[in-house]
Amino acid sequence: MLAPGLYVHVPFCVHKCGYCDFNSWAEESREPQERWLRALERQVNFWSKRPETAPAPGFDTVFWGGGTPSLLQPDILERAHALLRDQFLVAPGAEWTLECNPETLDSSRLQHLHDLGVNRISIGIQSFEDIYLDRLERRARRADNLRVLELVAKEWKGRWSLDLMFGLPEQSPARWDAELTQALAFQPSHISAYQLTLTTARSKNWKQPDTDTLLAMFDIAENRLGHAGLAKYEVSNFAKPGEESRHNFKYWRLEPFLGLGPGASGLLAPSQIPDSLNRGRFGAHQKQPDTFEKWENAAGQELAELGTLLSSRSGREHLEEFLMMGLRLREGLDLSRFGDRAQDLGVIFEREQVFGNIEIVGSRARATHQGERVLDSVLQRLFTEIEKIPPTNLDSASFDPIF
Ligand code: SF4
Repeated sequence: MLAPGLYVHVPFCVHKCGYCDFNSWAEESREPQERWLRALERQVNFWSKRPETAPAPGFDTVFWGGGTPSLLQPDILERAHALLRDQFLVAPGAEWTLECNPETLDSSRLQHLHDLGVNRISIGIQSFEDIYLDRLERRARRADNLRVLELVAKEWKGRWSLDLMFGLPEQSPARWDAELTQALAFQPSHISAYQLTLTTARSKNWKQPDTDTLLAMFDIAENRLGHAGLAKYEVSNFAKPGEESRHNFKYWRLEPFLGLGPGASGLLAPSQIPDSLNRGRFGAHQKQPDTFEKWENAAGQELAELGTLLSSRSGREHLEEFLMMGLRLREGLDLSRFGDRAQDLGVIFEREQVFGNIEIVGSRARATHQGERVLDSVLQRLFTEIEKIPPTNLDSASFDPIF
């Protein structure tokens, strides 16, 4: 089995942003952080006693996501970090990423993260225009974003990435271009550029750019960042060679990862699942109880809960997820993973190849420039094709030996 990743969710933020649908809430006080740590300890105790969770050489990526992990009190983060490092097998040279927001970063916090062993930070900048930061209800302002990026570019000793958003209300391609120019001035080696998506409730007073404008923004990002040496390697992610997020590759390549913390999910291979449970041919999705309090109560007693917290996956689900995640990647899908069933997959791509949306290069299938822009409709048609494959073929033992 490939080395799994570890995701740890920290649900706290300085402030709840207006567009945010993540499992997070505004909470800066110490007491909930203590409770979070105590429950996390119980969860880590449970999983670390199961060596199959991370067989040698152990986890090769650890990702602190949120929420805003960088707002944890330094001693709490330190104890949580030591807990993972001491109780789990983590491979030497593992990627340790921590998500940060500008309002929680200063020189001493950066030094502290470095001393702990965090070797990659991902900073939520989103925009350099106060008018957008206001509308997004972000806490940081343009001046904070600039201050933090200057600091990181000058003092941070590890790898780093920044997040930007496009498709903001009434944003023009020229204004998006200006955002990229400002980001590139700090010479980042990785940028995530996400299109703003709004829930219906929140979108009432927002006028988002039309589809043509959004497509123009996609192209601007690809061209501007490409010229700066940051190649697009996933629909929303750009990096210099070797600077890609190793942890996020696990999601897109459908590789196993364990999720801990109240809002974490995971994907476990059959070999990581206790014998007493249905291990399934394609492993299971791992989820957490639906509230912080329930998560807190269940943490550490997971064997009793696992039956409900793990949902095993069928061959069809596995294949649909494989397409949904893998076609986001520039490298595309590795069809050779499917052994003697690769032919079944070749067939489902035929029509999309004719439309010019998918190309097959060697043993890989990937979305073309055109296909990437209409990926949702391409996927819907591919799912219809999958319906035609007999379930027995999808569930056969030779189908995707990685699981
Ligand atoms: S900082 Fe991130 S996780 Fe927290 S509320 Fe804002 S968007 Fe959501």
